[in-house]
Amino acid sequence: MTETLFRQDAYLSACEAHVIDVDPRRGIILDKTCFYATSGGQPGDIGFLEREDGSKIEISDTIHGETKDIILHIVADGSALPEKGEKLVLHIDWQRRYKLMRMHTACHLLSVICPFPITGARVGEDESRIDFDMSETVDKVETTKQMMNLVKENHTIFNQWITEAELDANPTLVKSKNVRPPRGLGDIRLVCIGEDSAIDSQPCGGTHVAETQEVGDIHIGKIEKKGRENRRFRIRFGKIPN
Ligand SMILES: [Zn+2]
Repeated sequence: MTETLFRQDAYLSACEAHVIDVDPRRGIILDKTCFYATSGGQPGDIGFLEREDGSKIEISDTIHGETKDIILHIVADGSALPEKGEKLVLHIDWQRRYKLMRMHTACHLLSVICPFPITGARVGEDESRIDFDMSETVDKVETTKQMMNLVKENHTIFNQWITEAELDANPTLVKSKNVRPPRGLGDIRLVCIGEDSAIDSQPCGGTHVAETQEVGDIHIGKIEKKGRENRRFRIRFGKIPN
């Protein structure tokens, strides 16, 4: 089982680890990792693993194996494979990851402004989308303004751990209709926004920034109607274009 360091510290861009095994898909299994594995709509990290001799093993994706407790660091074509037991220094592509953290946090802020059940979400480096189960028509300029207010108010973002039983006792915490928080991995992590979770709290395994101000300028680029009760919101970086 790989120790998931990113769950405790999303800002950890490098760490040391040992190779446990190499999967036939050229997926390296490590004793611990700062590489986030694709899940919950957030793509896995890319980056490189540095060997003792200074050479690099390029990682083109990070995904889960058959079970959620397995994390595979997928080696890019042409890169060498490490030996079992080898010590490596892991480096994630931090610029990309930080964008994903800002975008992922922006998705949480949108779910505060639009308190409807989420039917799908995809975090991207340049654009993210969230699908809501809602029939109301909302204005993208007004929604952008409300999101940017939350950004500028610079609310703190922190993790809180609850048991599965506590989550079952508070089913309204889960906003996502289709994506259920991972089970069987022990405690569930709540991502809380604002002092005493005043703005929001919801179960999420992704990576987020520490203060809403770090999200920076974002706007709703588009709201599409996907069926009578579905609205797809696209979040983009930058100020709203005139
Ligand atoms: Zn999240």
